[in-house]
Amino acid sequence: MTKPVWTSPETLALHGGSHRADPTTGSVAVPIHQTTSFQFQDTGHAARLFGLQELGNIYTRIMNPTQDAFETRIAAIEGGVAALAVSSGQSATTFSVLNLTTPGDNIVSSTDLYGGTWNLFANTLKQLGVETRFVDPADPEAFARATDSRTRAYYAETLPNPKLQVFPIAEVAAIGRRLGVPLIMDNTAAPILCKPLAHGAAVVMHSTTKFIGGHGTSIGGVVVDGGNFDWEAHGDRFPTLNTPDPSYHGAIWTQAVKPLGPIAYILRMRTCLLRDLGSAMSPMSAFFFIQGLETLPLRMERHCANALKVAAWLAEQPAVTQVIHPSLQSGEARRRADAYLKGGYGSLMGFELKGGAEAGAKFINALQMFYHVANIGDARSLAIHPATTTHSQLSAEEQAATGVTPGYVRLSIGIEHIDDIIADLDQALKAAT
Ligand SMILES: *Cc1c(COP(=O)(O)O)cnc(C)c1O
Repeated sequence: MTKPVWTSPETLALHGGSHRADPTTGSVAVPIHQTTSFQFQDTGHAARLFGLQELGNIYTRIMNPTQDAFETRIAAIEGGVAALAVSSGQSATTFSVLNLTTPGDNIVSSTDLYGGTWNLFANTLKQLGVETRFVDPADPEAFARATDSRTRAYYAETLPNPKLQVFPIAEVAAIGRRLGVPLIMDNTAAPILCKPLAHGAAVVMHSTTKFIGGHGTSIGGVVVDGGNFDWEAHGDRFPTLNTPDPSYHGAIWTQAVKPLGPIAYILRMRTCLLRDLGSAMSPMSAFFFIQGLETLPLRMERHCANALKVAAWLAEQPAVTQVIHPSLQSGEARRRADAYLKGGYGSLMGFELKGGAEAGAKFINALQMFYHVANIGDARSLAIHPATTTHSQLSAEEQAATGVTPGYVRLSIGIEHIDDIIADLDQALKAAT
């Protein structure tokens, strides 16, 4: 096929990637290829697939056409060269780091992280011999200071909870390119709004469970390879990609993939990590995520427009002492939000109730329309009181360090009518004060 004329995210969400119409049936919607395995044409074909001389379907743990339609479409939207769908956002993060590290290596990560990522880095990766050096993203140079010859990646979130201060993507990516370290961005909270690869990140991952799905039906994750990082130029830093792989007849990934394009990172993730660790996305889930992706740009518009109005409204309420949303930030935080988020400031926000923990709990219990759940990015509006739920295992000091105070409430604003969203918040605030 000739190069498509369409390039904008609204169009790519519907037409991007490998799927056009199904070649055998003409099906316009992406079929759910609910099969474990794929018939080889003959022994030569089978040998070429196993030998990576030809890319194609063998077994659904490694690759499947429904996953492929989703992967190629999200890669197109993020501006990457290829993607790998996995069973959860946690798997996507794990794979993105394990693909570059061996015991004794380290990564440098922003302190502002999703709780699950924090635990993975601070405990589980540590048990596997990979150290995480946590640094404050307010100072990009902190990433350079924490880097040594065993540093394999930088890691950060575009729009991290609960501070909602946008990460300095281009600044840290530039430091990494100077020192030969790729930046991996978790873009879960800002799909469409931010394109980290365009700002110099090498890899983007998403928990597709959140905005990309949007319907709240499925758990999934995806890693996108930017194809823009020269792994060979920094050969010593990336032994997993530049030294013979005993699990693949001694293949050196950066060389083996040359005829296929700059996809060494993502192909090694598929052929080694996904093959061995097995956290594949099911074809059914891939289908659900494609349904979500198709309306994602439109939903993000409404999420952002509603959130902007809710933030302004909350800021005027006497029972509320503070509202956290990029639209209300100033100084460097606002400059970063304006530099990296296009088309809106996202749907996540936090606010602080004058009445502390008791008011926070009363507020949540009084909500009629908002769901009280440990999730974000759903088409429905969601709320949670972190001090009594997601952060309850932390001490008061630890809670404060992560930005969670006793009266803090987190909202993920949905796509309902703005009047109904505010009506529910209004009656719950009255009940809490
Ligand atoms: C939810 C989330 C994850 C983990 O994703 P799962 O799909 O729940 O495994 C990672 N990062 C961020 C920012 C998230 O919100």
